[in-house]
Amino acid sequence: MRLSALLALAAIALPSSAAEAAQDPYSYAEPDKVRVRHVDLDLALDFPARTIAGTVTLELDWREARADMPAAGTLSLDTRDLTIERVEALDDAGHAQALSYTLAAPDAELGSRLGIAAPGQPVRVRIAYRTAPTASGLQWLDRQQTADKQAPFLFSQSQSIHARSWIPLQDTPAVRFSYAARVRAAQGITVLMSALRQPAQGEVQGFSQPQPIPSYLMAIAAGALAEQATSKRTAVWAEPSQVAAAAREFSDIEAMMRTTEQLYGPYRWGRYDMLVLPPSFPFGGMENPEMTFLTPTVIAGDKSLVSVVAHELAHSWSGNLVTSATWRDIWLNEGFTTYVENRIVEAVYGKTQADEEFVVAAGELRHKMQSLSENQQRLAPVPREVGADDALTDVAYVKGAWFLRFLEARFGRVVFDAYLRDYFDHFAFQSITTEQMLDYLRANLVDRHPGKVDWDQVEQWVYAPGLPESATLPAVAAFTAIDTARAAFLHGTLGAAALPGGDWNTHEWLYFLDHLPEAPTLVQVQALDAAWRLARSSNAEIGMRWLPRAIRAGDSSAWPAARAYMLRIGRMKLTLPVYRAFASTPAGLAYAETAYAAHQAEYHPLTRQAIEKVLRKAHAQPEATP
Ligand SMILES: [Zn+2]
Repeated sequence: MRLSALLALAAIALPSSAAEAAQDPYSYAEPDKVRVRHVDLDLALDFPARTIAGTVTLELDWREARADMPAAGTLSLDTRDLTIERVEALDDAGHAQALSYTLAAPDAELGSRLGIAAPGQPVRVRIAYRTAPTASGLQWLDRQQTADKQAPFLFSQSQSIHARSWIPLQDTPAVRFSYAARVRAAQGITVLMSALRQPAQGEVQGFSQPQPIPSYLMAIAAGALAEQATSKRTAVWAEPSQVAAAAREFSDIEAMMRTTEQLYGPYRWGRYDMLVLPPSFPFGGMENPEMTFLTPTVIAGDKSLVSVVAHELAHSWSGNLVTSATWRDIWLNEGFTTYVENRIVEAVYGKTQADEEFVVAAGELRHKMQSLSENQQRLAPVPREVGADDALTDVAYVKGAWFLRFLEARFGRVVFDAYLRDYFDHFAFQSITTEQMLDYLRANLVDRHPGKVDWDQVEQWVYAPGLPESATLPAVAAFTAIDTARAAFLHGTLGAAALPGGDWNTHEWLYFLDHLPEAPTLVQVQALDAAWRLARSSNAEIGMRWLPRAIRAGDSSAWPAARAYMLRIGRMKLTLPVYRAFASTPAGLAYAETAYAAHQAEYHPLTRQAIEKVLRKAHAQPEATP
């Protein structure tokens, strides 16, 4: 979003209650006038043309009294790169009447406003449209880009504001709607959506999402897919060659669900299925209701990275059930979810692992905060000066979770668990702002248990940059021993092979690596790699920490492994640090650019955009060579 527009927004007073009043700077929708309450999709997938075409029928709740606007009504929708073929109003008998519309010139970030003149405020409006092959929310893969090379593959990623690139709708988390869909696809292609599957009728696959969800949870995937049950209400979907390994890795999902239900009340979505995507999926996971999308990089073979699954499951309460009303409030989704994720890990895998994971995440947060502006360091920035996709930083996730850990410590687990369960019930299926959450917190926790927390402390956590002094971390004995061993290695008093790394679990290795210098000496890197073969680790989280350090240390023998890693993995969190390390020297930058140029088509559009930003920045201001 452009700065001038944001300054204008800053002048809008944000009412402290009523999510309806939340202004979403990333949407053209006018939910105070009219709201979509149900979406009905009739779509066909065209893999050769890389397009989705069909119709969407929007059921509308007009908020403006007809008496005020007897003849007119305007429906303002979000679109990006869509071709609009026809817009009509439908009456109760299903008769269609053409409506006039204008598709505005596109804004680089927001896309094009679709303004529909809707005289008489019709309850149902149908739009015939098709997507562009370059739709920012869709990735189309050739057969060769999949694991099994049997069929092409399609998947969506709608968060933050990409649903509008494959469905014309009110693309703001403030608006919730149920949906149904019928999707035509070629024989042998299984279609999955963020909804319950209906029995297929011929080549048409049907879906129903009866609960009201925000637009960023609209999701579709299609390919040659197999299913393996992990319990009565859970299953894993993946390409046939991957499905058994995925089901083994995620076999604790039912235990995770029971834990979360005991803490925060029943799971309200029916089934919980997981889809393992091809490696170009740009995120760790996406909490699409009833069908979590997951990166294959979490299949480490030893369940060491399944906290991502706990995270996406936790979103069934925090995020999908109680949703942040704007992207500025995204910490309500991600901070609460990161907190719940850690509670699930503690219950299923033990307190040591949960503490280790949180301390590792807190270390990453402290490190990344150094490069964020003061406003980005706030849980609830005003105004949000970064793009909607950039709002998903470690601040929303880890600082948000840290704030809830602070509250848990002050009020005690029994009181805080009961409070959080009531919070999820109270705001179930609503989209809320930070200020609504704070009003509820004050009335139902802080004021009811006086003397535990000063309100100033709460406001400091939510509105101040940095971390408050009340941010404490659990003591992890294994980490203290690792600090000692690392220091001895760096001082040259302990050889690499003498490190007790054989006893370390994945999180202990991550902690060891995280606190090495960004650019160790070449001798140190070579000694560690000779002893522990880190460049060849199949664990993607270890690679993300090791390969950039090896590159910065000047170990060119690590380049081929780093190149293979960054071309194999499209998950941005993992692949970008390798690009950044290569970009720190002219020779590395040239090497990374050559690799990227040859393979860019294999990346997701979001990943491409992020990599190109890294490469551009390196040309503008080359880092000093260490
Ligand atoms: Zn999340």
